[in-house]
Amino acid sequence: MNFKKKFLAGLTAAALSFSLTFGSPVVGEAANSSLIGTGIAIGIQAAQLNAQINEKIKYYDTTEAGRQELYDNFRKQYGVNEDPEYNAALDRIMANLTKGVAVIDPTIKSKPYLYFVSNQNSINAACSMGHVMMVNAGTFKKITNEDEIAAIVGHEMGHGQKNHVAKSNKKHLQKQVTAAIAGTAIGGGALGSIVTQVALNHSIAHGDRKHETEADLLSFDYMVHTNYNPGACAAVMQKFVEMSIGGKRSGAAAFFNPSDHPDSEKRRDAYVKKLYEYSKNHVTAKNAIITVNNKTFMKVAASSDMSAAERSYFILGNLATAYHKGQNKYEATVENGIVMLGNQPIIAPLDGDEDAYTLAERLNSIK
Ligand SMILES: [Zn+2]
Repeated sequence: MNFKKKFLAGLTAAALSFSLTFGSPVVGEAANSSLIGTGIAIGIQAAQLNAQINEKIKYYDTTEAGRQELYDNFRKQYGVNEDPEYNAALDRIMANLTKGVAVIDPTIKSKPYLYFVSNQNSINAACSMGHVMMVNAGTFKKITNEDEIAAIVGHEMGHGQKNHVAKSNKKHLQKQVTAAIAGTAIGGGALGSIVTQVALNHSIAHGDRKHETEADLLSFDYMVHTNYNPGACAAVMQKFVEMSIGGKRSGAAAFFNPSDHPDSEKRRDAYVKKLYEYSKNHVTAKNAIITVNNKTFMKVAASSDMSAAERSYFILGNLATAYHKGQNKYEATVENGIVMLGNQPIIAPLDGDEDAYTLAERLNSIK
């Protein structure tokens, strides 16, 4: 062994001994503590970030300043339509539905909706956090029946009352935060702007199917506490089927993004089932034929602006209301050309329908 080798061996031994005596434990401790430290840092950061998310959502969802900020941003982003007819219709619908909602969900009184007619041409409506809601001008242009528009707005209010947007935003944001932590850590400021951006830009999409079904059913429940015809919920879905909106073949932008919503036929059928239950299992309709107690009441004709099927759901809605309110105890009569069941108007026959007296007589024989 030459000197150089001896020297290196000694050095190595000394180094080894040093590290066994002091080095290793120190290095090991340092490594461990830095691992633990990073873990703690991630833990603290995730908790802080989630707290920030929750705080931001709470701000937009529950504070007046946040609600107003979101509302102003939506108005800027989608444009405001000033058409006096559209705006008057939406004011009426909101006043009527707000009362209907309040019967079953009084929380609406402490958080009234901030709504407007947006300057968009598609048939669509949306509800964000903080009960910020918009209905597209295209909805009023293409759907002229106020009861049907109310059914759409009722669906949005269902999302609002159940805080669907805040709930799905929380999930969405938490996913983003987790992804951000897995890469490089992001600071609180960056998170703040991510949350704001998501809140402002991604909070109007209709969410998961469970939320959609719940919103549909709630719309019906709200409608039956207004003077609107509860058959309008099924009727507007029938209209979408005929317009191929939310249908399997539809690729067009639509009211209720078809990919997010069960298709219109299924939603229509779910509403027909609701009407049947509401009538205490007395009335239903299929392919424009109305059945009372399993017997055919009438085949409905089309009107100038509605198919026979769409119109049949309005007549079904009237019959369901009559049964729900016990008006079937009374005779069917004809008043000013309108078939009545007790005090409930059922149908004003048009060309193509049977005449009012024939219909009243048949209703009396099967009701
Ligand atoms: Zn929806």
